Amino acid sequence: MAPKTDIEIARAANKKYIQEIGEKLGIPGDALLPYGHDKAKVGQDFINSLAGKPDGKLILVTAINPTPAGEGKTTTTVGLGDGLNAIGKKAAICIREASLGPNFGMKGGAAGGGYAQVVPMEDMNLHFTGDFHAITSAHNLLSAMIDNHIYWGNETEIDIRRVVWRRVLDMNDRALRQITASLGGVANGFPREAGFDITVASEVMAILCLASDLKDLETRLGAMIVAYRRDKSPVYCRDIGAEGAMTVLLKDAMQPNLVQTLENNPAFVHGGPFANIAHGCNSVIATKTALKLADYVVTEAGFGADLGAEKFFDIKCRKAGLAPSAVVLVATVRAMKMNGGVAKADLGAENVEAVKSGCANLGRHIENVKSFGVPVVVAINHFAGDSDAEVQAVKDFVAEQGSEAILAKHWADGSAGVTELATKVAEIADSGVSDFAPLYEDEVGLADKIETVATRIYRADGVVMDGKIRAQLKEWEDQGYGKLPVCMAKTQYSFSTDPTQRGAPTGFTIPVREVRLSAGAGFIVAICGEIMTMPGLPSAPAAQNIRLNEAGEIEGLF
Ligand code: ADP
Ligand code: MG
Repeated sequence: MAPKTDIEIARAANKKYIQEIGEKLGIPGDALLPYGHDKAKVGQDFINSLAGKPDGKLILVTAINPTPAGEGKTTTTVGLGDGLNAIGKKAAICIREASLGPNFGMKGGAAGGGYAQVVPMEDMNLHFTGDFHAITSAHNLLSAMIDNHIYWGNETEIDIRRVVWRRVLDMNDRALRQITASLGGVANGFPREAGFDITVASEVMAILCLASDLKDLETRLGAMIVAYRRDKSPVYCRDIGAEGAMTVLLKDAMQPNLVQTLENNPAFVHGGPFANIAHGCNSVIATKTALKLADYVVTEAGFGADLGAEKFFDIKCRKAGLAPSAVVLVATVRAMKMNGGVAKADLGAENVEAVKSGCANLGRHIENVKSFGVPVVVAINHFAGDSDAEVQAVKDFVAEQGSEAILAKHWADGSAGVTELATKVAEIADSGVSDFAPLYEDEVGLADKIETVATRIYRADGVVMDGKIRAQLKEWEDQGYGKLPVCMAKTQYSFSTDPTQRGAPTGFTIPVREVRLSAGAGFIVAICGEIMTMPGLPSAPAAQNIRLNEAGEIEGLF
């Protein structure tokens, strides 16, 4: 019999009413705002009432550089959360919401997989509780108000060639990347070049995920740069007067969503910023709420540890005052083999030598995570075809690095497959050995911050930045933005900017093509390579096979 698909497993889940899940964390029924029977938002008043409570331990799940073989960070986050609960710990997980666009392109959801999933996964991967629609609306309200402001006389003297605030849509639609707006005559405004990004690339998304409360949200929205004048001075969202109405549209979206795992354990699913031009983790408000309610909180950062964990530490933890107790670094035998030079088609055959040579990638990530002062344990996410000798090769390698690798079978067996890992993680978190510090101090210059990440994390020989970019960074420092952290945007497939350089490459530099200021979110984006902020659909989009069956169930989504 063919193994069950993710959606078949999810559909068969024995879900509990969301109030029962809330009870596990001590959330009273009237503090939950239910969306149907199996989803709820956690009310802001209740969140405010938690302020004095002690925090649980924060555990980050990250991974080696991704390969087409797949790693399973979300799957491991969910599995570890269930594993901790199974060994008697009070644990919750925190993950990101899914973007609608990719669902209709390539098959594959954001709720985990196999017997380690969050449910209702169809909802989570589609409209869910409407947060992304709210973000889309808030973003586009500002877009409309900017063009309206220009139409009615352009009092702030926006240079219409320098409007940087685009429009967004939660869809993969390459036709909208670059457009001409306001065509059709005097009544329609002043024609100008414009374009769309996908909603998760919006600065509003990054802000929602970093804001501590609605007041902070409003201030940050107001601080976003929307355009420049002819003298290149910035025009802010607050100059257009949009931040109040945007906050109103985002009022409900700011409250974290509570759902459950297949094993009925609590899962917060909230926010979903891009992991390249933004920081790639769920909202600060969800993580902080979970830490008040659970003894252990397992969360995930996007992409490999060179991007995801670094931004989690240097952006999210720095800004939110979080201090992780342990890191779980996910590796797979298949990905080690690919890093060792094996082609995707040949991954089925045992190849211990390739596993060994691919481990160099894992080794560098282990060292990097340790350099933040956080202890690391490697989770080998088990795939059906992995041989014992291959698994042992990974374990031996990790032991040589002074860490431990533990085989985890949560995808196939749920919590029962991950108790050894859960026990180890709890032990490390409880030991208090973590001594977290970000990679660089706030006071370090912006160019030096970029250089520090490039040399210490990517192990590049240096950074290549032309004079114009250095001058721009200097100008931002003079304007008071010098203390912001940097958000690196580069390929997720390699430590370098060349996606084909797997393993642990050396002898390369990091070219910085462009820098952008996300003044509301509070970081400087350093763009190193081609970064797509509006994806396209593939030649045969998954949407062609998605439909409702006779029973009214969704088919073809996963
Ligand atoms: P990430 O969060 O790293 O992007 P996910 O956890 O979302 O990865 O997993 C990506 C895909 O790989 C999912 O479809 C999931 O079902 C699948 N997957 C994860 N772990 C396993 C495994 N051990 N065996 C088979 N498939 C797996
Ligand atoms: Mg994931």
